[in-house]
Formats: sequence, C-alpha cells, structure tokens
Amino acid sequence: MTQTIDRSQIEALVRNVIRGTRDAAPAKVADSLSGFSPPGWVDGQPNLRVSISARHVHLTDEHVEMLFGAGSKLEPDKDLYQDGFYAAKQTVMVVGPRRRMLPNVRVLGPTRPFSQVELALTDSISLGIDAPVRHSGHIHDTPGCVLVGPAGTVKLDHGVIRAARHVHMNFADADHYGVKNSEKMQLVVKSKECGVIFEDVLVRADKDAKLEVHIDTDEGNACNLEAATEILLRKDSCGCKKK
Ligand SMILES: [Zn+2]
Repeated sequence: MTQTIDRSQIEALVRNVIRGTRDAAPAKVADSLSGFSPPGWVDGQPNLRVSISARHVHLTDEHVEMLFGAGSKLEPDKDLYQDGFYAAKQTVMVVGPRRRMLPNVRVLGPTRPFSQVELALTDSISLGIDAPVRHSGHIHDTPGCVLVGPAGTVKLDHGVIRAARHVHMNFADADHYGVKNSEKMQLVVKSKECGVIFEDVLVRADKDAKLEVHIDTDEGNACNLEAATEILLRKDSCGCKKK
C-alpha cells in the first residue's frame, strides 16, 4: 500500500536544523547480526531532523526549457537530506498580481510531472496570492502565478501552495513511533519564550526516506527553531478520539 507513495513529492529544505532527540517510546534496535540499519538511523536509533523548507519551485522538463532555454536541464547544486533530491543552481522570479514579485526563488530537482510553487504565508501575502495549505502534489483549485527565467516565462494556471507540514520517514521509523503512512503526529519544539506544539504533522512513509520533518519559514521562525532547546516528535494526542 505504501509503495504507492510518490517519492517525487518529497521536497526540500534550504536550511537544516539538526537536533538529535529521543522519543519516549523504547527504541527498536537495528539488527546488528545482519548489519541492517534503516536509512538515516544512527547507532541503532532514529535520528530526528527538523528542516525548514524555504520558498521554492518544482518544474516540469518542459518548463525548465521554457525558462532556461531549449535543451536546458536542472543543474544540481546542493544535495538535500533526502537521497536523490537537490537544490538546483537555477532560480526563477515568481510574479503575482499587480506585478508583485519574489526574485531568485530556488528550483528543486529532480523535475516533476507538474510545476508547483511552495511559499510560506508571509511570502504569499507579499506576492498578493492567497495560497491554500496543501500537501505537495495536491494543487487542484489553487491559484497560479507567472514564473520568469532568463530565457522566457511560464504562466501557471494553478500550483501555488503553502506546503503543509509533514514528516518523511521509512517504515522502521514508523514502527518506532507506532504510526502509519498518512497519520498525523505532533512536533513539540521547546524554545525560550516561544515554544510551539505543531499539530497535524502528516506522516509520509517511504522505504527509502530518512526521518525528517519539513516546516516552512514562518513555522520555523515562530518557534525560533535554530535556538530550540528540545525537539520531540510524537504520536498525535493520547490516542483517544475526540467526540
Ligand atoms: Zn518534505
């Protein structure tokens, strides 16, 4: 079932804040006899990482050529924590209504079947676009924008979203936390004078993923993530159902 998760939905980060943390639940120790260790695990334990995804763009092959010239391909600049994904050298300008724009928005690779722009709320306010909170790839009935590159422009009819917070993990991580794909978790960030508990952190389980929470810049700033003293990922609530 979880094999159907679209790996290409995994996006990105521009800044990483790494916090080793331990869940209250007992750790599942990797099988030391076989030498097997799930992706991202350190010393037989999940290794929680919380990353801030700054605003970014995903493009189709066709749009890469329209923006950067015929025959152009994305050029990897920096690898992201999730294997196979990268920040490209290329950036685009994102233009909203009344010519409001964000310059130099990073393109993340590899290319995708649909182009998509992921913004924080602050970005969308400055652009004048009312971007809804959506999970990556769920771009039906979303606003569009214009992308401007050095070789041309692309008009997107839809695809501008605020990326919903989520956590990538492999199935060993999911077992460790007692969660399944598409369930919700809580991320607790303890931070001096501005701690935050993030609800609705969607589990995106994939066999190759490494444990990593993605939040946007507004969320990272709200809890001053870089100065956080403790970070905890836990199963949503106590397990009781609210009536
Ligand atoms: Zn992500």
